[in-house]
Amino acid sequence: MEKTSKIGRRFEGKVAIITASTQGIGFGIAQRLGLEGASVVISSRRQRNVDEAVKKLKELEIEVLGLVCHVSNAQQRKNLIEQTIQKYGKIDVVVSNAAAIPSGNAILQTQEFALDKIWEINVKSSILLLQDASPYLTKGSSIVFISSTSAFQPPAGFLAMYGVTKTTLLGLTKALAAELAPHTRVNCVAPGLVPTQFTEYITSNETIRKEFEKPILMKRFGTTEDMAAATAYLASDDASYITGETIVVGGGVPSRL
Ligand code: NAP
Repeated sequence: MEKTSKIGRRFEGKVAIITASTQGIGFGIAQRLGLEGASVVISSRRQRNVDEAVKKLKELEIEVLGLVCHVSNAQQRKNLIEQTIQKYGKIDVVVSNAAAIPSGNAILQTQEFALDKIWEINVKSSILLLQDASPYLTKGSSIVFISSTSAFQPPAGFLAMYGVTKTTLLGLTKALAAELAPHTRVNCVAPGLVPTQFTEYITSNETIRKEFEKPILMKRFGTTEDMAAATAYLASDDASYITGETIVVGGGVPSRL
């Protein structure tokens, strides 16, 4: 996205933490919120990726703090919140974006360590990060979970457990919306397929790619900008009467009524 794009400045003076945000959808969200005026806190597991992402955002004149944070590392989560508060003093937006697909197996063939890992990264770490962040969430703050269209119908096979963890995020959105209202809104974005490193195994294979493309009404895969636009809307005051909801950003792919 060019700095000159016609976008608003809805996050002027706001502080946004986006997890797993040095590339892909998370980076797209950080860029969008930053271009709209937010101070953004980005993070991921590798320092090199953090440094590169910080550089790109600074080139767009975005105020950014970059830290290493593997979402399942308690110390790094605490550090993420502490450094954010030290530098910016508050938290207005948290986008919980990290996920893993550690198993290539069907659910009943998935080993316990792989089950633990996928729950830990996709669900538990989001909760624990929010526990650390909650004392600093401002009145009118906003949390957005990044789920998936696979949440509505977890497919059989290698994406099954991943889909189930994404279904859980829909429930977590409802539960936390009730728990945090009216101080903080909690919503969710369910992306359809977006070509990123995460989905390279799909998009790089012509046959699988065509299979995934077929049900998309808009006849194209999503972009990180599509996901960032929906996330920015939910995180902004434009959505101040929306909480506990999930927006599907899937180009019309079958999801729900
Ligand atoms: P991606 O392009 O592969 O980017 C993943 C980002 O997360 C990288 O910055 C990576 O950097 C970081 N990361 C990975 N594991 C992490 C961990 N354990 N802790 C902290 N950071 C971590 O992925 P993506 O496609 O943007 O996916 C982002 C989210 O969108 C996920 O929740 C995914 O389930 C969801 N989603 C994606 C699609 C899609 O089609 N792409 C569709 C539906 C939902 P490091 O390597 O430096 O850690």
